[in-house]
Amino acid sequence: MEVSGDFARLVLEQASSAHPAARMARELGLLGNYGTLGIFFLMSQSGEVFIDEDDGKLRPAHADEHEFAHVQAARRYPELRHLMPDRPLSASTCQLCAGSAEAATGDGRNRFCCPACNTRGWTI
Ligand SMILES: [Zn+2]
Repeated sequence: MEVSGDFARLVLEQASSAHPAARMARELGLLGNYGTLGIFFLMSQSGEVFIDEDDGKLRPAHADEHEFAHVQAARRYPELRHLMPDRPLSASTCQLCAGSAEAATGDGRNRFCCPACNTRGWTI
């Protein structure tokens, strides 16, 4: 799925972080769209997703990682909203996150990306 003509602008405007993954993204013309402890998601203009596990090497994303990166891009960049997977008519709102894409620990103090729906907000 082609990302859009806005992709080059988004790459240029992405945070000018000094982190190696951000620098790699800029040098390769990729868009860094999500990062957490030891894993960074980078996307090409053609919609391919690559993973940097904080070792400076890129590997192709697995299917669930690919979907996660597209959902994060759609949530973060209005220009990329079309990357959000279509919700099937038979889907249900995620019971863990109630559709918010974020789940919380039992005491509610820590929030994290919902693993039950891969942050889509719905499950099949
Ligand atoms: Zn969920």
